Amino acid sequence: MPELRKDPITGRWVIIASERAKRPKDFITERGEKKGGTCPFCPGNEAMTPPEITAWREDAGEANSVGWKLRVIPNRYPALRIEGDPERRGEGMFDRMNGIGAHEVIIETPEHDKSLADLDEEGVALVVRAYKDRSLDLRKDARIRYVLIFRNHGESAGAWLEHPHSQLIATPVVPKRVQEEQRGVKAYHEMRERCVFCDMVKEELSVGKRVVYENDGFAVVTPFASRFPFETWLVPKAHLTDFGGFGDAEIRGCANALKEVLRRTKAVLDDVPYNFIIHTSPLRDRDNWEPGLHWHIEIMPRLTKVAGFEWGSGFYINPTPPEEAAEFLRNA
Ligand code: ZN
Ligand code: ZN
Repeated sequence: MPELRKDPITGRWVIIASERAKRPKDFITERGEKKGGTCPFCPGNEAMTPPEITAWREDAGEANSVGWKLRVIPNRYPALRIEGDPERRGEGMFDRMNGIGAHEVIIETPEHDKSLADLDEEGVALVVRAYKDRSLDLRKDARIRYVLIFRNHGESAGAWLEHPHSQLIATPVVPKRVQEEQRGVKAYHEMRERCVFCDMVKEELSVGKRVVYENDGFAVVTPFASRFPFETWLVPKAHLTDFGGFGDAEIRGCANALKEVLRRTKAVLDDVPYNFIIHTSPLRDRDNWEPGLHWHIEIMPRLTKVAGFEWGSGFYINPTPPEEAAEFLRNA
């Protein structure tokens, strides 16, 4: 059973995934291993993955057989597990809890060599729909406080398998990064009685120089204080606080904007490795605070390395002004 441990100084939770127990030499051999061989995510290899949680099939084919357009499976090596009680325990001054939660893989397409940026808009919309549906399903579990959806593209961004996929980790605590955003949103709201994300989108659209793309419902901008070169945020124009509580129009709009930003990033930066993450309001206290966390997607190309200064300070050094990055991406 994985375990969550809380740092008594910063309050940061860490997952100790003891089942993956690794000794020094495991890390060293892993670094040298090349990928290749049979892809467990390709059609025909369904038996190589744990049984699917859900899948989209055009014909009502059998579960775990070929013919799917998108498949959701449990991670074979989950960081957190669904069984167990999230009860917190003390050990002297330290806090720990069982590592309950969920860790799922969304296999985005049967086509091994396509990336999310290459899918047509309908294909990307199916992926966004899967994110939404999984998020809605997992919140039925009262132990779950947050569903973090993320995507690692490229080996240096943490993707161990090439086949296009995203992941989802549902946690029994609210992640620290999300809490930090919540605090910022609350503080701004206390001062101005408005949502900082709503204000930011309006401001960026009126100024224009950091806008990469927009459609009816969504804007893509390079944030004013971008941490990374070519970092972009995809933000709904309306004040939407629940990634899960939106309809077909939003799915289509989000898919359109997501495809555009990924396509442009790929074109400008030659298929750069990247991570994207979705931030939304935590599940259990959604109704308890104003104005709620305006959901958004943060896309971070891996062009610079997070090194000593960043780890030590929380500062980032970004060599590309976001205004210049936006111009490249806008014209791509
Ligand atoms: Zn594959
Ligand atoms: Zn807002």
